[in-house]
Amino acid sequence: MKTIGVDLGGSHVLATIVDDDGRIVDRAEHEIADRTFAVAIETIGTAIEDVRRRAKDAVTAIGLGSPGSVDLSTGTVKYSPNFGWHDVPLGTRLCERFDMPVFIANDAQCATLGEHAYGMGRGTANFVLLTLGTGIGGGIVAGGSLLVGNNAAAGEIGHHQIRATDGFDCNCGKVGCFEAQASATGLIRHALAIAHSFPRSTLVRGKPEKLGSKAISTAAEAGDPHGRAAWNRYVDDLARGLANVIAFVNPEMIALGGGVAAAGDFLLSAVRVKVDELTTVTPLGTRIVAASLGNDAGPIGAATMARRRGLTAATT
Ligand SMILES: [Zn+2]
Repeated sequence: MKTIGVDLGGSHVLATIVDDDGRIVDRAEHEIADRTFAVAIETIGTAIEDVRRRAKDAVTAIGLGSPGSVDLSTGTVKYSPNFGWHDVPLGTRLCERFDMPVFIANDAQCATLGEHAYGMGRGTANFVLLTLGTGIGGGIVAGGSLLVGNNAAAGEIGHHQIRATDGFDCNCGKVGCFEAQASATGLIRHALAIAHSFPRSTLVRGKPEKLGSKAISTAAEAGDPHGRAAWNRYVDDLARGLANVIAFVNPEMIALGGGVAAAGDFLLSAVRVKVDELTTVTPLGTRIVAASLGNDAGPIGAATMARRRGLTAATT
């Protein structure tokens, strides 16, 4: 049985066909020209139509991950700051057009479902995915099911504060959120914040806005003093947040995805040591690993939700 999995990003929509084994067998990606609902729903519909037309076997349902908060029962996007949407009937409109069951959920929750079902989390009952990108997205699997919470808003791990008095400003209006300190953007902010102490550093010779997280991790790995100092601050903050997650959730595994996780063992070995130091109450044993599905976790998770006929259905 094949299902359609759709990932709605800020500037593009990716529609995929996913088979029973969680493999993407076809994909169509379209740019979203503007973020009004009228334009976006047309683009989403076109992308879905592309892959549905090419699918030889009948597809049975559609799953879609959207930024923002979603009413799981109706598929209405209640609020999406990225798009400026309030209460848009995404699920109803897709259901009318394609005449098959449609399931909509938050994009980070879909990615967690995908990574749990077919990525590093496979076989675990208690699992956390954290994507270290522009922000920190993530989700929690507890007792084999995705934790959605009262208003389907569980898993906003990026906005728990780890440095409320001396941290960076967060987009959400608070100070020192995990996402402000430990996303890829956070790594850049650490490097810029201490740049004055490294007048001979080559990292910020150009415009500060050109500095990327990859340049910093590469410099740190090569032993550059500025890169290393920024990296150590970053790892401290990442470990603080992970230790909190372990205390809240006691997961068997935390998988790290996103740009910074591409540093691989250089990141993982450093962060494991720090997390062990900070994990004082919960029994040790949480494995911290690199996620394996990358950006495909979202559409694969959305298709899995469609196949299971819901976000929280038991593992098949
Ligand atoms: Zn925040």
